[in-house]
Amino acid sequence: MATNKVVDLRSDTVTKPSDAMRAAMAAAEVDDDVRSADPTARRFQEAMAAIMGKEAALFVPSGTMGNLVSVLAHCDVRGSEVILGDGSHIHLCENGGISTIGGVHPKTVRNNADGTMDIDRIVAAIRPPGGGLYYPTTRLICLENTHGNSGGKCLSVEYTDKVGEIAKSHGLKLHIDGARIFNASVALGVPVDRLVKAADSVSVCLSKGLGAPVGSVIVGSKAFIDKAKILRKTLGGGMRQVGVLCAAAHVAVRDTVGKLADDHRKAKALAEGLNKIEQFTVDSASVETNMVFMDIVDSRISSAKLCQVLGTHNVLANPRSPKSVRLVLHYQISDTDVQYAVTCFKKAVEELLKGSTEFEHLVDTTTKNSYGH
Ligand SMILES: *Cc1c(COP(=O)(O)O)cnc(C)c1O
Repeated sequence: MATNKVVDLRSDTVTKPSDAMRAAMAAAEVDDDVRSADPTARRFQEAMAAIMGKEAALFVPSGTMGNLVSVLAHCDVRGSEVILGDGSHIHLCENGGISTIGGVHPKTVRNNADGTMDIDRIVAAIRPPGGGLYYPTTRLICLENTHGNSGGKCLSVEYTDKVGEIAKSHGLKLHIDGARIFNASVALGVPVDRLVKAADSVSVCLSKGLGAPVGSVIVGSKAFIDKAKILRKTLGGGMRQVGVLCAAAHVAVRDTVGKLADDHRKAKALAEGLNKIEQFTVDSASVETNMVFMDIVDSRISSAKLCQVLGTHNVLANPRSPKSVRLVLHYQISDTDVQYAVTCFKKAVEELLKGSTEFEHLVDTTTKNSYGH
């Protein structure tokens, strides 16, 4: 039965730490990690390096810092340029930090609906060598897997390998913004270390679908991580008894990766439920992981009003555009919650179409950006 519980579908960042995470935090053995002395952080970083198939790993406070530190480590010469998707999180949603803080110039390539960039467009974006007087120097290519702005689409291992080959053959590095790389790995059925084999660095969010309260981890070669550690300190991300956070993250990786397939199944169920509502369309075939992008096909309903009315039923969702809504699943949303949410979407539509004056005060605020933040 529907409870008074809030069904929060705004993001997979909203999970609360599990009892096991809190217990691990309480029991964590800690020391000063700026001196590399925190045993819990060391153990966690070693475990993550092994899982991701790289030499070393570094815990960072956020995905944003993970990406920034990674890009800066690869582009430590002024006048560096990075090739990245025009719909990528690094380009759209990280305050332009690679430019404003790192002095790195972005060269965007169009993201296709599946989150890829066409290979020939990537190649065409690489600056000719010896461009001397006019051109910045291409040093890095960034991919995003899963690709958030395309609804959590997975980049295949074949595609990733191909981009890796291109990077290598041009003397460039490859960074993967793998905020949701475990979702991709699970959905594709490809071990995560294999999926990122071609990458020189990967940034992995622990606080998205994995459910840790705080943090991301970056992985790469030992030399890359040594550089990244200095950059992390420069940016104020050197944290002292950080084992408290790493302990929770370690539990998250241990306990939640196995639940991601279930999130993907629930996302499909949500998409199918919503698709049965006349005023909405969802391409359920496009739901590959834990995200659902839903379009409103009734001219009388805006996403802003719909989300506000849903809120009165304790279902939280974010408009993605004036006529679409982004919904994100995570392990703390149950099958019952999904069914309850579908019922509430139906009710919200009925209430909005009743023509009742009850909702006239609601404003049609638009979203701030295409990521729906
Ligand atoms: C969330 C996210 C980030 C940034 O992570 P924060 O921890 O929120 O800074 C980077 N890339 C993608 C694709 C994300 O979804």
